Amino acid sequence: MHGPGDVRVEQRDDPEIIAPTDAVIRLAATCVCGSDLWAYRGIEAVRRPSPMGHEYAGIVEEAGSEVRSVRPGDFVIGSFMASDGTCEICQAGYQSRCANVEPVGANGAQAEYLRVPLADGTLVATHGQPGPALIPSLLAASDVLGTGWFGAVAADVRPGKTVAVVGDGAVGLLAVLAARELGAERIIAMSRHEARQKLALEFGATDIVTGRGDDGVARVKEMTGGYGAHSVIEAVGTQESMMQAIRSTRPGGHVGYVGVAHGVELPGQELFFAEVHLLGGPAPVRRFLPDLISRIENRSINPGKVFDLTLPLDQAADGYRAMDERRAIKTLLRP
Ligand SMILES: [Zn+2]
Repeated sequence: MHGPGDVRVEQRDDPEIIAPTDAVIRLAATCVCGSDLWAYRGIEAVRRPSPMGHEYAGIVEEAGSEVRSVRPGDFVIGSFMASDGTCEICQAGYQSRCANVEPVGANGAQAEYLRVPLADGTLVATHGQPGPALIPSLLAASDVLGTGWFGAVAADVRPGKTVAVVGDGAVGLLAVLAARELGAERIIAMSRHEARQKLALEFGATDIVTGRGDDGVARVKEMTGGYGAHSVIEAVGTQESMMQAIRSTRPGGHVGYVGVAHGVELPGQELFFAEVHLLGGPAPVRRFLPDLISRIENRSINPGKVFDLTLPLDQAADGYRAMDERRAIKTLLRP
């Protein structure tokens, strides 16, 4: 990315093993993230031309001398945050905040090859080579599915609970899927976009709310006997969406916020009296990967449906544009 709205596909040097804990993978597929749009739209500064992309699935091409858990030829998926898997934070399940964390996206996953640091703590191999039909879903596990799943876990979704999801991007839609898998009884998807409402229903939403802000909050309260939802997942990252999430939650309920916050400031007194649990941040996707990969391999979930546009890598700029204009939910890029 050279600047806002300026994505180019250029030749870079092939990545190499730098540390003995690195692996280099050949990507089977990669994609554009909703969070890439913050820079594309100029909301996040692009100071110099930057390699883009942090979602990846592919085959290990080369592994450093200290890598033990994966070997060349393995099909692997990893999180957008590389983690050692051994520090106290990783052991507690918060690998995205590992004491030795490295953002994989700095190396640019929208590419043919990618260097993944801390391979042992970051990558998870599939059980054998996946067929082409599974690859979009495995790629989704790298971020959007893992992030939606964390949103649902952070919001304490459990059997019998009522869940509301603020945001109808890929993460919000997959939070709906996660809520269904975790046994929620009622799942309210907040969306005013027809194609996204349809996918939300397919993923398990039981109700659609089209209202936003105070209207959306009032509707959720109306549907829950005036109480608000037990669990609310925030998957946008704006002031409006965060307040909508907090205000849609009943006292004692939980908000899982996974939209990357931009300009969000919480009013202390309102928060005090809201009496809700708040947990969010960059999703520790690595915690969920083994389980998510198994669910995809045994075809109990099909999160790859969020990719409604597939382009060759050299048309990446079109993929960004389609998402920016909300013509596509999520663009898959084939290297
Ligand atoms: Zn760690």
